[in-house]
Amino acid sequence: MDYISTRGKIEPVGFVDAVLMGLADDGGLLVPKQIPQLSPDTLHAWQQLSYPELALELFSLYIDGEIPRDDLKKLVDDSYGTFRDDEVTPVRRVSNSLHILELFHGPTFAFKDIALQFLGNLYSYISQKHNSTIHILGATSGDTGASAIEGVRGKEGIRICILHPHGKVSKVQELQMTTVDDANVLNLAVDGNFDDCQRIIKELFADVAFKQRYHLRAINSINIARILAQTVYYFYAYFQLAKQGQGEKVNFSVPTGNFGDIFAGYMAKRMGLPIHKLILATNENNILERFVTEGVYQPGEFRGTHSPSMDIQVASNFERYLYYLNGEDAGTVSALMSDFKRDGRIVIAGEALKQVQTDFEAYGVQNDECLSTISSYYSDYSYLLDPHTACGVAAAQRYTADDEVTVALSTAHPAKFDEAIQLINIKQTAPSQIQALSGKPQFQTRVAGTNEAVAEQLLAFF
Ligand SMILES: *Cc1c(COP(=O)(O)O)cnc(C)c1O
Repeated sequence: MDYISTRGKIEPVGFVDAVLMGLADDGGLLVPKQIPQLSPDTLHAWQQLSYPELALELFSLYIDGEIPRDDLKKLVDDSYGTFRDDEVTPVRRVSNSLHILELFHGPTFAFKDIALQFLGNLYSYISQKHNSTIHILGATSGDTGASAIEGVRGKEGIRICILHPHGKVSKVQELQMTTVDDANVLNLAVDGNFDDCQRIIKELFADVAFKQRYHLRAINSINIARILAQTVYYFYAYFQLAKQGQGEKVNFSVPTGNFGDIFAGYMAKRMGLPIHKLILATNENNILERFVTEGVYQPGEFRGTHSPSMDIQVASNFERYLYYLNGEDAGTVSALMSDFKRDGRIVIAGEALKQVQTDFEAYGVQNDECLSTISSYYSDYSYLLDPHTACGVAAAQRYTADDEVTVALSTAHPAKFDEAIQLINIKQTAPSQIQALSGKPQFQTRVAGTNEAVAEQLLAFF
């Protein structure tokens, strides 16, 4: 399988090189040259597969022999063997029309583990094959860092440095990252906010000599391996409903910020999974909702909300969707992205906007609606939603017709975001793994929010 750039200016590369490249060298995003198509017969046969078996089949289509099947099977089994639920991503029926797809049974209690457990093992495998050390550099607003660290801690051939904004991640997120004492992990607590961390990383990656000398690799959500890993649970959840005779009109509601998770659903649909509607849920940072309803993609003012992992104004995966929306034409994507650079916005109208509105329903959830949704599901169904999941559930309520079923993706365990749950006076008992974090020694280095300060730490660590 060849991977090409949405901007069309790189030579096609194979899967492993696409993973190592992260962002395409021409500034675009990597996509498979063709999306594999699955027949109804194949889909029917796959209904019987376990989660790891299904992941192996789907990954094989995209990796196309580049990693021998036995090796790939071991990577998949190792990655999903760390999950606490036998089903990996179980589907819970909450009401006749709503099912919750629980994606939080991995080591850090958020859905990022599904992709980052796999990516961590994949990097380790590639490092052994290439006999060279991989240096991972990333910035996080909380969940990605914890999950990436958990994916590679203690692994040979990998060193990881994660920047987080000092004092601006949740208590649980901070503890998950900083109580890890493996020698291959460096946590930098940066004076500044998440955007400062992100800018520093971008500028260090843009220094090509620096990037090459240290074999710097990325773990952010533009990595194609992350999208691929996230397509699996759409298939898995759909199959669970189809087996119960409920495969007729199945919608998915997805709380999103970077457009990563929902793009994985879009890919699954293009591969032939008969998803009825894809419902895109945002919080008050509703750039994506405005894009779907008005055709204008334009970052607005940053809002701090109860669902901080979706407090994002520039959706880094959005360009992949633009590519498919424009008939896989890299020239059009490049032109739109230069418009965006120049005017700070992209405008879509006419037939293209109609297509967007066929592909997605979208709904932006306000803070008070997020909390009232958590309260009402707790009292009506005794199900405690985390605030990110609550955005998806609120959107599902709005768009599920009488003869439809919606699967709402649950992206985090509520104990990870207890700050919001406390506001509505619900007392929860955190899982023992989360309780065990308090009181453990923390390992982190506080640094100024400048490239020089961070580079100095990296040179000493790598
Ligand atoms: C990262 C994250 C999201 C948003 O994921 P996208 O890839 O931006 O769509 C939603 N919820 C939680 C808990 C997250 O950590």
